[in-house]
Amino acid sequence: MFGRQAFAGLLLSDGIQVIMFNLVIFGPPGAGKGTQSEKLLDKYQLTHLSTGDVFRANIKGETELGLLAKSFIDRGELVPDEVTIGMVKDFVEDRVSARGFVFDGFPRTIAQGEALDHFLNERGTPINIVLALEVDEDELVRRLLERGKISGRADDQSEATIRTRFNEYLQKTEPLLEYYEKQGKLNRVHGMGSIDDIFARLVSCIEDASAS
Ligand code: ADP
Repeated sequence: MFGRQAFAGLLLSDGIQVIMFNLVIFGPPGAGKGTQSEKLLDKYQLTHLSTGDVFRANIKGETELGLLAKSFIDRGELVPDEVTIGMVKDFVEDRVSARGFVFDGFPRTIAQGEALDHFLNERGTPINIVLALEVDEDELVRRLLERGKISGRADDQSEATIRTRFNEYLQKTEPLLEYYEKQGKLNRVHGMGSIDDIFARLVSCIEDASAS
């Protein structure tokens, strides 16, 4: 799908070094982005940027950003674009030695996607591939309620908040699928089954894309 040039940060298994590689892991709440990101980071030695995790760390640390984000997150709404985009830019700029990033939970709106493209293209390190996890809605709700028992996350506790998050996803985030499809970067991946089976599907997408 990509020429080697487009895949400037070439990534292969078997010990061949990653030069520079950026990946977006995409999907609705509960799709397993965080779980699969951990495995991708480990395999490809990338840096994780989970906007949800960064927001939660800021909430815990009671920073200005955390206070601002908290009310949106607890209601299941997206944090405003300008806040999120600024945070992501700072995160990337602070990590000059990163070989590349797994963007997890970002972008979540078309404006965020455009801002990310603009920012990364200016640095000469574009997004190489987008992996979109597809999971049935019943399974998503089940996973989130289950996670809520362990995570203690306020936004995982009530079905009403989970519903708001799905609505936000459908209205604001899902249009990004078409955005990345037009760029030829989108890979849809079946997100049901065992964690290892799903991971194997993701790896095969990455390797197919980097080999073509
Ligand atoms: P999940 O994918 O399970 O909803 P996340 O940890 O990715 O969990 O996100 C939790 C919440 O953090 C979101 O519901 C939203 O309020 C906020 N958030 C995370 N990423 C973004 C983003 N890119 N833009 C706006 N809000 C975000």
